[in-house]
Amino acid sequence: MDDERARAPSKDRTTEAERLAILEVLTDVLAPPLAAGPRAGQILQRICTGLVAASPAIGFAYYVVLDEHAHELRPEFSAGVGAPDMRITRGQAALLWVIARERRARLYRADDPLMPAWLQSGQDASDVVLFPFGAPSAQGIGVVGAREPGFFARVGLESFSAFTSLGDLALTLRALALRDPLTGLPNRALFLDRLIHACAHARRLERLLGVALLDLDGFKLVNDRDGHAAGDAFLQRVGRVIQSSLRPGDTLARIGGDEFALLFADISCLSDLEVLCERLLKVLREAGLAPSAAPGLAITGSLGVTVFPLDDSDADTLMRHADLALYAAKAGGRDQYRVHSVEFEEAAHRGLEIREMVRVALGENRMILYYQPIVRIDGPVVGAEALLRLCDEERGLLAPEAFAGVLDCGALACALGRHVLETAAAHAERWMVSGLRTPEGLPLRVSINVSAAYLLDPSFLGDIRATLARHPGLAVSALEIEITESAPLRDLGNVHQTLRACLALGLRVALDDFGTGSASLTYLQKLPAHTLKIDQSFVRGMAHDAKDYAIVSAVAHAGHLLGLEIVAEGVETDRHLEILRGLGGLCVQGYAIARPMPADDLPRWCRMYERRRGAHS
Ligand code: C2E
Ligand code: MG
Ligand code: MG
Repeated sequence: MDDERARAPSKDRTTEAERLAILEVLTDVLAPPLAAGPRAGQILQRICTGLVAASPAIGFAYYVVLDEHAHELRPEFSAGVGAPDMRITRGQAALLWVIARERRARLYRADDPLMPAWLQSGQDASDVVLFPFGAPSAQGIGVVGAREPGFFARVGLESFSAFTSLGDLALTLRALALRDPLTGLPNRALFLDRLIHACAHARRLERLLGVALLDLDGFKLVNDRDGHAAGDAFLQRVGRVIQSSLRPGDTLARIGGDEFALLFADISCLSDLEVLCERLLKVLREAGLAPSAAPGLAITGSLGVTVFPLDDSDADTLMRHADLALYAAKAGGRDQYRVHSVEFEEAAHRGLEIREMVRVALGENRMILYYQPIVRIDGPVVGAEALLRLCDEERGLLAPEAFAGVLDCGALACALGRHVLETAAAHAERWMVSGLRTPEGLPLRVSINVSAAYLLDPSFLGDIRATLARHPGLAVSALEIEITESAPLRDLGNVHQTLRACLALGLRVALDDFGTGSASLTYLQKLPAHTLKIDQSFVRGMAHDAKDYAIVSAVAHAGHLLGLEIVAEGVETDRHLEILRGLGGLCVQGYAIARPMPADDLPRWCRMYERRRGAHS
C-alpha cells in the first residue's frame, strides 16, 4: 500500500546492477528513432518484454489501458507469467480508476491483506506495483510483479518512473491516432473498434444496438459564408450539442467533414430507438445552428440507422447499411431519420442497374432531348426547355423520373451533362440557321438543366467554351442553363464563380424549381441570374391553397422588382393561366401550353402557336 517502504533502497552492487538493467530497457526501447520506429503499442510491448528479461526477480509486467466503454479489461501488452490470461471485470477495474485518478503508484507486498485477489491469482509474484499513466483523454495502469519479496523496496520505485512517462507518451500518441483532433471525439478507427465490441455485447445480452450515421444538411453554407475557422467552431458546437443529448453508454464519433457516427447501446425495442433518433434531430433543430451570415437558415441533420442484430451483419456492412438509410433520409427531404431495411438494399441494387441502363443508352445514342415550349402569358413563344428522355426498346420513352438517381451522380452525370449541352447547342444552332425566330425576331431560347455534379465539375466551363466554338451559328444569349438549389448548397463559392464566368460568356442563367428549398431567397440575393422558375408544386397548388398562391405572387413580385424574368412551371389548366394573368408579365410552361415534344416537332409547333395567337388577337 504505502510506497514509503520503497523509498530507501539498499546500495549494494547487485541492486545497482539491477537498476542499470532496468534503465537499459528504457534506452533499448528508445534506441530506434521514434518517428520512424515503433508504434505506440509496440513501445509498450517492448517495455513489458524488456522488464521481464531485465531481472529474474521480475515475474511479469503488463499495461492495462482503461476504457469506460469496455465491459472487462485485459492487459493489452504483457510479458511474463500469467499476465496474458488476465481478465479484469468492471467491478475490479474500479480500483484501477481510483489509482489513475490519484496518479500515485501503489505497492502491494506479498503479505499485504489489501492486495486484490485478482492481482495474486495465477501469477508468480509476491510484491506488485501499479503505476498509473496516461493523458487526460486516455489513461492506463502499468502492473509489475516481482518474485522476490521486498524487491521494489530494494531497487526503488524511481527506476520505474521512466516507464510511466513512456506509457504517457505512448497513450497520448495512441489517443491522437484514435481521436478527431477538431472535436476530440473518437474517429472512424476507434468507432469501428467500439462497434465491434458493442455488437458482441449486444449479442451476449440479447439487446439491440443502433448504428447510425448523421450528416448535417447544408453545412457547406457555413464554411462558404463564414470561413473555415467558423466552420470548425460550428462542428465543435454540433459535437457538443449531440453529445449532450446522448445517454452515457452511447458513442459519438466524427468520421468525416460534417459526418458523425453514433452507437445507441442497450436498446430494448425499435420504438425506443425511434424516440432517440427523433430526440437527436429535435435537439439539432432547436440548437439554433444557423450560420452567422444567414440567421434565418437553420442547419439540420439527416440520420440513417441500422439495427444490430436484426441486421445481422459485420461492422463494415452495418456502416454501409446505415449509409444507405442516410441516403434515403437525405433523398426524402432531410431533417429526418430512416432505418435501414431490405428495400434500401434493393433500391441500391436497382440504382446500379439504372446507372448501367443509362450508360449503355448514352453509348447507343438513345438519350435524346424533348423540348417543352415556354411562352409569355398571352404572348409569343420565348423559348423551350430541353428535357432528357431515354429510348428503351421495351418500355418506350422514359422520363427522368425513371433514372433520376444518375442525373446528379458522379462521372455519369458529367457525361450526360456534356451530351445534353452538345445536343441542345446543335438543335439551337440548327433552328437559328433555319430562320426560326420569336415574333420579336430573337433567336429561340433553349434552356438546359445542369446538374450540381456537372456544374461543380472542373470540366464544365471548358465544355461550355468548346461547345460554343463548335457551334458558331448559335447565338450565345439564346442558351440558358437551369440550376437548382442543390449546387449552391454543395459549394456556394464555386457555383457563384462558375455562374459569373457563364455570364461573362454571354449565357443566361435560370434558377429552377424556385421556392422548394430552404435557402431560395438567400441564393436569389447571392447568385447572378436572369430567370426564376417558380416550382410547379406551388403553381399546381395555387388554385385551392392560399399559401401557395401567396408564394407564387410573392416570388413573382420579388422577381419583377429584381428585373428577372419569371417562368411559372407546371401550368396545367386554364384556371392556372387565369390566376397567373393577374400577376402580370409572367412566362408560362406547362401542359396548358404544350407537352414536351421531339426536337423535330418544335419549329412546326411554334409556327402553329403563333398562327393561332395571330388569329385570336
Ligand atoms: P424540371 O427542370 O423542373 O422540368 C420540368 C418538368 O416538369 C419536366 O419533367 C416537364 O415535363 C414537367 N412538366 C412540364 N409541364 C408540366 C405540367 O403542366 N404538369 C406536370 N405534371 N408536369 C409538367 P421531366 O421532363 O420529367 O423532367 C423532370 C426533371 O428531370 C426536370 O425538372 C429536371 O430537374 C430533370 N431533368 C430533365 N432533363 C434533364 C437534363 O437534361 N439534365 C438534368 N440534369 N436534369 C434533367
Ligand atoms: Mg428545368
Ligand atoms: Mg423545374
